[in-house]
Amino acid sequence: MTKLTVRQKIFVYMGLIILIVGGAHAVTKQVYMESLFDQFQKEEISATYLHASSEEQIEILKIYVSGKMQTFLLGNWVFFIGIGLFVSFLLSGVLTLPLRKLVAAIERVAQGDFDVIVPVQSKDEYGKVIQTFNEMTLRLREAEDARRRLVADVAHELRTPLSIMQLKLENAQQTGQDVPPEMLLRLHDEVIRLGLLVEDLHVLSLAEAGRLSLDCKPLDLSARLEQIVDDVNMEAEENGLDMHFHSNTKPITVMADTRRITQVFINLLTNAIRYTPEGGQISVVMEDKVLDRNAVYTRVSVIDTGIGIPAEELAHLFDRFYRVEKARSRHTGGTGLGLSIAHHLVKAHGGFIRVVSEPDQGTIFAVYLPSGN
Ligand code: ADP
Repeated sequence: MTKLTVRQKIFVYMGLIILIVGGAHAVTKQVYMESLFDQFQKEEISATYLHASSEEQIEILKIYVSGKMQTFLLGNWVFFIGIGLFVSFLLSGVLTLPLRKLVAAIERVAQGDFDVIVPVQSKDEYGKVIQTFNEMTLRLREAEDARRRLVADVAHELRTPLSIMQLKLENAQQTGQDVPPEMLLRLHDEVIRLGLLVEDLHVLSLAEAGRLSLDCKPLDLSARLEQIVDDVNMEAEENGLDMHFHSNTKPITVMADTRRITQVFINLLTNAIRYTPEGGQISVVMEDKVLDRNAVYTRVSVIDTGIGIPAEELAHLFDRFYRVEKARSRHTGGTGLGLSIAHHLVKAHGGFIRVVSEPDQGTIFAVYLPSGN
């Protein structure tokens, strides 16, 4: 029965009720009719009947049988219809039980309790609805967890710069002296950091909600990359790093939002600079027509000879606010949002990022963008 659909179950149950009630009615009617003649013999065979002509005898018998049958049929129908209704009532209760459980669960969800799971006990329409409902509450739980984590993470990230600023301002107030320019500089740094964090969070929340509007136009990627590398080269040089751009063909045009794609490579290159010790090398390599799972991509790899990332950390690398422990202790000034943003921005362009890394050897972040032609 569990393999039948609800419609089939109702059809089968109703059919069975009709068959049983109809059959029982027909059998009892037959048995009663047969017993009627014995009854007639016992009750009605009187002198009048015996002395009547054969037509009159048939007439008397007809009146007797039809009178008795009318009363019997009425009683019999009332009895079986009563039983039929009672059984239908019980069956409708059994058939709608999963629905009632689901309604109770939906009411709990409506009151904000997402920890409800309704057991799936059949493969019919109810089973499918309950399974979908369970998947929906799982998504709601995940979204709620993500929201809680985000609030906690944001509060944690905001606390440090805010408390530094508060402390410095309180000190300045207590001493009553003029604020030295270095302190103003530190305060300004913290304000910039807060501003960047808020901007990053804004972009990330839009991207995660799929509401990031991209202004995609044909973009000469090689020229853009050359420019980006040029822009960050000064910072690389200041850190004693050697940075280069290589391309196997040029120019390569992709459909992209220039501002967002620039942000992706700035994030990757800033990380490469941040996590590569002095004397290291950073290369940006662009390749066209790279085949991956039956699709053609333009691949840009950001390769560094830095501290690398342990294998067990790679799975969480693109999570927001995730930072490898070593990186946290190095006070590198990152927010832990750079890779998460890069991942979402590349995804919004129909591409993806792959990472290969070896601790103390270096890291490769490969950005795959759908080929322009
Ligand atoms: P952050 O702002 O901390 O750099 P990201 O999201 O950009 O945040 O990066 C997440 C973490 O990934 C970093 O904290 C760092 O531990 C690690 N990471 C990113 N890029 C590199 C890299 N090129 N080499 C080594 N570790 C890296």
